[in-house]
Amino acid sequence: MNVRSRARISESAFVTKFSELGLIEPLQRALAAKGYDIPTPIQSQAIPPLLEGRDLCGIAQTGTGKTAAFALPSIHHLSETLKHTPPQGCRMLVLAPTRELASQIAESFVQYGKFLRLSVATVFGGVPINKQIRQLQRGVDILVATPGRLLDLIDQRALSLKFVEIFVLDEADQMLDLGFIHALKRIDQLLPKKRQSLFFSATMPKAIAELGNRFLTDPVRVSVAPQSTTAERVEQFATFCNPTEKQALLTLRIRSEPIDRALVFSRTKHGADRIVKNLRAAGIESEAIHGNKSQPQRERALGLFRTGDVKILVATDIAARGIDVGGVSHVFNYELPNVAEQYVHRIGRTARAGAAGVAIAFVADDERPYLKAIEKLTKIQLEIQPLPENFIAEKAKLPKPAPSAPQPQGDRNRRHDGGGRNAEGQPKRRFARPKGAPGAHKGAVRRFGGGGGR
Ligand code: AMP
Repeated sequence: MNVRSRARISESAFVTKFSELGLIEPLQRALAAKGYDIPTPIQSQAIPPLLEGRDLCGIAQTGTGKTAAFALPSIHHLSETLKHTPPQGCRMLVLAPTRELASQIAESFVQYGKFLRLSVATVFGGVPINKQIRQLQRGVDILVATPGRLLDLIDQRALSLKFVEIFVLDEADQMLDLGFIHALKRIDQLLPKKRQSLFFSATMPKAIAELGNRFLTDPVRVSVAPQSTTAERVEQFATFCNPTEKQALLTLRIRSEPIDRALVFSRTKHGADRIVKNLRAAGIESEAIHGNKSQPQRERALGLFRTGDVKILVATDIAARGIDVGGVSHVFNYELPNVAEQYVHRIGRTARAGAAGVAIAFVADDERPYLKAIEKLTKIQLEIQPLPENFIAEKAKLPKPAPSAPQPQGDRNRRHDGGGRNAEGQPKRRFARPKGAPGAHKGAVRRFGGGGGR
């Protein structure tokens, strides 16, 4: 970190109100409308240097307010230097690893910019490309994209990156996990050299830092939580059990815990479906969200969870990545992830924006090494929660769980459901992808403030 950036961070650490950040009035109005008064630590650290045009490397988990940290100064810049949108181009590009996250980021831009006339579009795979091609014809101010579909659009000459003034790479660690490294390197080649770049990751191991160096020039570095620190407000428990006891344990815990909303993490897609089936058989309404579900199915499940109509959402890691739903009181780790960092991401889904949360892990004998790795990384020992009283008798009263279906080749022992498919629900491949993949289309160009084109 250079002297200038260090000084900037310590100065900005004193910013306690949005009104002190020097953001344009329409942004302040939008923040007031959302009821945001006080910037989160990442916002007060990042916004001042970003308004100065600096590059930024941020270590921040989801739930820290990082979307506003990059959206607010960018909207400020784009509307202060208002221009015609470049045909088949964009002025700002935000890359996100999953379609859910891309949609969520775009929605934040729309909300923060609702008193301004800037356009925002979202493009991701798994939906027809032609409508996206048409949307991009007149150009947009802000484009939020997943990497594969972005390159498809470029290859079809529907989009050029040569007018990008601000580039954001969000969730870099997840991008690498999903195998997007080659796509990112190619996108780097296509971006103009003169631009502002922002790079965010929840963790910063060497490979991620190297990727960051590729995109950034003399960045300000901000970090809102020490690397891989487990969310402090989450109460964490572990119960040792046999794999065959997990379903009954989950059902009984869901019945006994005061749950507002709970996320259940399964390591595989088939496992997630099976858990939902068994919960339903026991009279507990739940939905599954994973990479084998179509976009409309994913949106429906997420919608029911958001509105509270369904309190239990069973997810694989990748599908859960973009879920920003407040009021998640419990996270169940039905299986422990075999990558310790993933545990931090999972439990970070609860205890968002100041709330408290509970995380419960079911640990089978062969998962004990994973528990050890998690405790080593987080420097927190999970509190052991014994099996519920009368477990055997209570378990016997439950419907017999559906047997494990044979898993297709390749689903077994996979790290998560991004292993063979990328964030766009397509089998992993470098750049090409079949055109017109099935699924409903979402991703309209939206104008802030209902304004028309310029
Ligand atoms: P993010 O880390 O960007 O996913 O944001 C996490 C959640 O915090 C989102 O629901 C935001 O709407 C909310 N949020 C962001 N900034 C603030 C703020 N300054 N005050 C209150 N809530 C915020």
